[in-house]
Amino acid sequence: DRRWAKAMEIVKEMQEKCGTPIGKLKQVADAMVVEMHAGLASEGGSKLKMLISYVDNLPTGDEKGLFYALDLGGTNFRVLRVQLGGKDGGLVNQEFTEVSIPPNLMIGTSDALFDYIAAELARFIAQEGQEFELPPGGRKGFSIDDAVGLDVVAELTKAMKRQGLDMRVSALVNDTVGTLAGGKYSYKDVAVAVILGTGSNAAYVESAQAIPKWHGDLPKSGEMVINMEWGNFRSSHLPLTEYDHAMDNESLNPGEQIFEKLISGMYLGEIVRRVLLKMAEEAAFFGDIVPPKLKTPFILRTPDMSAMHHDTSSDLILVEKKMKDILEIGNTSLQTRKVVVELCNIVATRGSRLAAAGILGILKKIGRDTVKDGDEQKTVIAMDGGLFEHYSEYSKCLENTLTELLGEEVSKNHLDRACQRWFRPWSCSACCLTFTVS
Ligand code: ADP
Repeated sequence: DRRWAKAMEIVKEMQEKCGTPIGKLKQVADAMVVEMHAGLASEGGSKLKMLISYVDNLPTGDEKGLFYALDLGGTNFRVLRVQLGGKDGGLVNQEFTEVSIPPNLMIGTSDALFDYIAAELARFIAQEGQEFELPPGGRKGFSIDDAVGLDVVAELTKAMKRQGLDMRVSALVNDTVGTLAGGKYSYKDVAVAVILGTGSNAAYVESAQAIPKWHGDLPKSGEMVINMEWGNFRSSHLPLTEYDHAMDNESLNPGEQIFEKLISGMYLGEIVRRVLLKMAEEAAFFGDIVPPKLKTPFILRTPDMSAMHHDTSSDLILVEKKMKDILEIGNTSLQTRKVVVELCNIVATRGSRLAAAGILGILKKIGRDTVKDGDEQKTVIAMDGGLFEHYSEYSKCLENTLTELLGEEVSKNHLDRACQRWFRPWSCSACCLTFTVS
């Protein structure tokens, strides 16, 4: 009928506006390369910050000893203990714990927060089992991952002293840099790390000479890890729809993180919700009244979207259940449920293909996208994040698109996945995309 036709028109328009043909993806990749150059040339030269990480030496795989790492998240933190066996020894042992941060500490003073963290650390360290062998030099340092806006190293060092812990903080790294380092431990050819989780970011190994804005001494290795902050990338080639513009305008950071808003887990479900709402309002897609829940921003989370997208049952019972449980929309017809899945597909496909284009941009920047005089260069991309880990339609599409972009005949794409669970044992993500340009 007329309503259905109108609804289909909205879906069709969304599909067209979200189109990411290969030509467009190559334009996006080229724009990424241009912005990378600009960001490396001068501070504030681009939307891409291209932050110098001061990490000029990545793990070799020969590391030996007992190490602790701390990952500070928004609502919880994790402590990881690993025993590395040195050359050919690999990962001898590992243990981790996850502790949630009491809400009152999140709004309190930083002293209270760090005292809490240090106390939990002390507890974890006290449980050091016999299988962990303490090297003669004592315990090795911590590396602290991601905590915004605080001098974490100073704060944590003070708190550890107050706890009587005799340890020192050896490095503070951003999570993408951490993923790069973790990947490098297992795969020497890791050159790029990409995180696709709630947000998205990428880091890669750059030649020190290719960083004009850096005036310090050149590192011995001749290399420097760059934290791109690629979520803030934007380009006129990005396929933005009215829904993206509206979501951006109503966001806490309008005009910022545009690439992230297209590709990361925080936003995919919300985009789908916005399209469904428009269909409800303008085509009475769910009947005469607009389902009230559908008006609630961010009510449709990406894990729920992904669950619907992956529903393989012939009558899409999972989609029906999600629609009922989350949006309080009952009695959906099979036809309606199919349209919902199609929308999930449109939004996830656009996101994953754009992420692949971003990766191509990085590979181009470091000259790893083509054959070099017949020599065989291998490049490994360390992938991490809950979105990439759990949303298999998304990650599959990303891999296929990368193969397509690199070209079958050029890359022969030995695209395979290797899990490096040890690096973030609390998730089984931290996958590596490996491909050989040969
Ligand atoms: P963060 O990025 O918050 O540090 P993670 O890397 O664990 O943490 O990613 C969590 C994000 O991954 C969630 O916010 C969500 O967007 C996404 N995610 C988690 N589970 C799924 C799932 N089953 N399907 C799709 N996306 C998921």
